Amino acid sequence: MRVIKNILESTSDYNFHAHTQFCDGRDSMEDIAGASAAAGLVVLGFTPHSPVPIDSPCNMDKGKVGEYYKESSRLKDMYAGRMDVLTSMEIDYLGDDWGPHIDRFQNQPLDYRLGSVHFVPNQDGILLDCDGRFERFARYLKEGYGGDLRYVVEKYFEHVLKMLERGGFDILGHFDKIAGNASQADPTLENQGWYESLIDDVVSHAQSSGVVVEINTKAFENQGRFYPAERWWKKLLDARIPIAIDSDAHYASKVIQSRKEAIEKLKSLSKPHADMSSI
Ligand SMILES: [Zn+2]
Ligand SMILES: [Zn+2]
Repeated sequence: MRVIKNILESTSDYNFHAHTQFCDGRDSMEDIAGASAAAGLVVLGFTPHSPVPIDSPCNMDKGKVGEYYKESSRLKDMYAGRMDVLTSMEIDYLGDDWGPHIDRFQNQPLDYRLGSVHFVPNQDGILLDCDGRFERFARYLKEGYGGDLRYVVEKYFEHVLKMLERGGFDILGHFDKIAGNASQADPTLENQGWYESLIDDVVSHAQSSGVVVEINTKAFENQGRFYPAERWWKKLLDARIPIAIDSDAHYASKVIQSRKEAIEKLKSLSKPHADMSSI
């Protein structure tokens, strides 16, 4: 969608990823909007976790969607002229039948769509939420996926790739998020060749699909890492993929948390190298 790319070209004072009382966020939309405006943002996108057809306490109840739109439009009016409030959802890709591409989400009155994978089917096709705390992931890995870490990681990326093929969204959310938990199970994971090939596949799919790729700063303060990991950013830059830096805030106090660090790091990576041909 053009609108996101236009914003990226005109300002770095945006955040396209924020959660509130409509899903697992801890503060109200009004508080998140107030903190964002106070922090100097000129664009704020709300991204409640989309409704899903399975039990999930983190996702917005489908009965709440109307109320979410109402509150969005109230805040759009309230901040008109100061900060653009955008209405979105972080839409879960669960498979062919559920993701940003389906009519249900294409027909929603959203300003843009953020596509993310959190649920990964196990060998029996049961979807398990691989996001969240490591303790739960470790339990799922042992009891749900038969201890097969490579299966989980490959399945996760298979879904990211399929979501990109299906399309229907503007921003690819935290595309290597599985690495947060999976690299705790195996700290060598991200150094392995097969893993890097999966990253390369995502980068090339993202490049041909024309989506904006998110660098998610939510975990930087506590875990010292971004999603995608900093080691892969050069691949995004080389592929000339537009990048959005989002806080994925669940609290009003964290609306711009670690965005500045990511912006600086990205800037230093993208500095043009000295042109040797002119020497
Ligand atoms: Zn997410
Ligand atoms: Zn999120």
